[in-house]
Amino acid sequence: MTSYRIAVLPGDGIGQEVIPEAVRVLKTVAKSAGVGFEFEEALVGGAALDATGAPLPPRTLALCRESHAILFGAVGGPRWDDAPHEQRPERGLLGLRKELDLYANLRPARCFPMLTDASPLKRSVVESTDLMVIRELTGGLYFGEPRGVERFADGGARAVNTMVYTTREIERVARVAFDVARKRRRRLASVDKANVLVVSQLWREVVTGLGKEYPDVELEHVLVDNCAMALVHRPTRFDTIVTENTFGDILSDEAAILAGSMGMLPSASLGGTVGLYEPVHGTAPDIAGKGIANPIAAVLSAAMLLRYSLNMVDHADRVDTAVARVLEGGQRTADIAGPGEKAVGTRAMGDAIVGELQALYS
Ligand code: NAD
Repeated sequence: MTSYRIAVLPGDGIGQEVIPEAVRVLKTVAKSAGVGFEFEEALVGGAALDATGAPLPPRTLALCRESHAILFGAVGGPRWDDAPHEQRPERGLLGLRKELDLYANLRPARCFPMLTDASPLKRSVVESTDLMVIRELTGGLYFGEPRGVERFADGGARAVNTMVYTTREIERVARVAFDVARKRRRRLASVDKANVLVVSQLWREVVTGLGKEYPDVELEHVLVDNCAMALVHRPTRFDTIVTENTFGDILSDEAAILAGSMGMLPSASLGGTVGLYEPVHGTAPDIAGKGIANPIAAVLSAAMLLRYSLNMVDHADRVDTAVARVLEGGQRTADIAGPGEKAVGTRAMGDAIVGELQALYS
């Protein structure tokens, strides 16, 4: 029997509540698919700081390196807000991204038909939205050198950040994007600011060149300002979007509102040898410990793990379908319940998804 090792890092706050539901879903898949999943849990973030003094203990990093995939919850919370920079829970996640060279961040934004009214945008705009934003995660403006602030004697100052990309950095994230587009509707929009930035001109040149290897994927180039408008005006025109770090940071958050709630948004970070899968949301200190968090983002992250790290595409589709059926059946957690709708808790939503999944396999 094929066996996969999955590192489970729930982290802090509601990470501890939603990740167990995603694990139950993966266990249900394993039973029916005839594969073995070996889950091993490790500490990260604030939980790791409290227990070991480090947000990413060496044991956690070693486990991640030895695993086929990582299921991650969320890190952080008010308890650690005053900790010094290197002792902050977020360093755990940033450290993992860096150590594992996770340079491509995938964030799908899908508007489930039964939740269309949960979006702040008009039904006619968001209906049928199903797009994927791929953001370059380890280069560009956030990491480029030189950077810093120069203070002048007259009280003024000059601050510099540098947007820099190499051919190699652009090509590797673009390749992930073309491969993902191939598994979707075979349309890729590369987003840049080539009318102003030379970095974007190189970006466009490299993506266009790589596109020749993917004649079956329809490639278009879109300026970032146009893309920002189109996302809230006609999001259905997009399938897969690829862009550099800063533009991707902003556009992926903009796309998030199309899906209605933070509790619905999964993500994947790919690149090196092992992929990391996590809900987009944070630790939600306002609801942590109450058992009411929506586990769907975590469950859909587990579906992405099946799809992208284990190539278990049919099983990933089943998990997605189970979630859609539970929503069609009217189950809602508090964050997606409409006025007058009864809300279920985290565990009950997990039960419902596992139940639908079992029905899909029987
Ligand atoms: P957040 O995503 O934790 O919460 C924002 C709002 O959305 C809150 O009202 C919360 O209750 C709600 N929400 C989020 N996920 C939900 C879910 N699954 N079900 C129901 N409601 C949900 O963002 P924040 O409040 O800005 O940050 C809280 C903490 O999380 C901070 O310490 C921050 O640094 C951390 N954070 C971590 C990550 C990560 O680990 N990747 C990401 C974002 C924020």
